[in-house]
Amino acid sequence: MSNTLKQAVLKALRATGVFAASTRFRRRDKLVILCYHGISLRDEHLWEGGLYMPIELFRQRMAFLHAWGANVLPLSEAVVRLRENTLPPKSVVITFDDGFYDFYLKALPAMREFDFPSTLYLTTWYTKHKLPVFTLMVKYLLWKSGKPEFADPEAREHAVARYAEQADSEHLTPEQCDQVSRQLAERIGIDYDSILEDRLFQLMTPEEAAVAAKSKVDIQLHTHRHRTPHDRDLFVREIHDNAKFVEAITGLAPQHFCYPSGVTSPEFLPWLRQCGIQSATTCEHGVATRDDDPLLLPRYLDGCAVTELDFESWLSGVR
Ligand SMILES: [Zn+2]
Repeated sequence: MSNTLKQAVLKALRATGVFAASTRFRRRDKLVILCYHGISLRDEHLWEGGLYMPIELFRQRMAFLHAWGANVLPLSEAVVRLRENTLPPKSVVITFDDGFYDFYLKALPAMREFDFPSTLYLTTWYTKHKLPVFTLMVKYLLWKSGKPEFADPEAREHAVARYAEQADSEHLTPEQCDQVSRQLAERIGIDYDSILEDRLFQLMTPEEAAVAAKSKVDIQLHTHRHRTPHDRDLFVREIHDNAKFVEAITGLAPQHFCYPSGVTSPEFLPWLRQCGIQSATTCEHGVATRDDDPLLLPRYLDGCAVTELDFESWLSGVR
């Protein structure tokens, strides 16, 4: 269905009361888990509109949730109430992946304004290096270069993969990787120091994460190195290293997980259970029900292309 047609259909459904009826009946015992990645510090949403949004749009979403009467719940409470079938009407959970500085600077004040709790799935390896995530920075710089050979996202992916392979094979330290980014920025005439100053693609520091944890942000697991090895011991190590860092920040043992890059596999489920994980969220699009495996809960990935009608249709449980 074309997007114009889809919007027209959604508009008609809303006008004829289908959204309201769906909210009352279809949606009653279900949970909408919203997924966000980043809020632009500069122009990141023009580069990756599926992952980044401007703060104005994010604030509109929070205001919409408030006006719509959403019951925004902490994740830990929501998963228990989903299982026990005691969810309040219009229940919603807000989740953020990764834990970039833009969450701290932009998203957190917007959620505070509405007193909404949220869950932050924090990947921890970069939190101790106050440096940009190398592959993201390279991908962004290639886009910023404006060169025709990097206009296509797939071409940028290939180029970034080559940069990552080279860094791997040469065993570059994070500082050396950052020098590679700097040289690339200089070649295309971008002021790298100002990018560093704005902290693009940098994770929050443990101190910032601790401040967030005191502001209704529940910090949970996303692996230490943002990867899910298919070897049991390496997978469990990712969870344990991640949990150790999160616990040092919050003082609480984390029990909820989000698959990095949305990569799931049946073999992960018993490993997660052995680690005592109570719930895990994916990047599968949909509303969570009691029939879902708690270790495979779907979410709605919000982004720049999502209209307010789309957003309301998710909240209302209209497919
Ligand atoms: Zn992630």
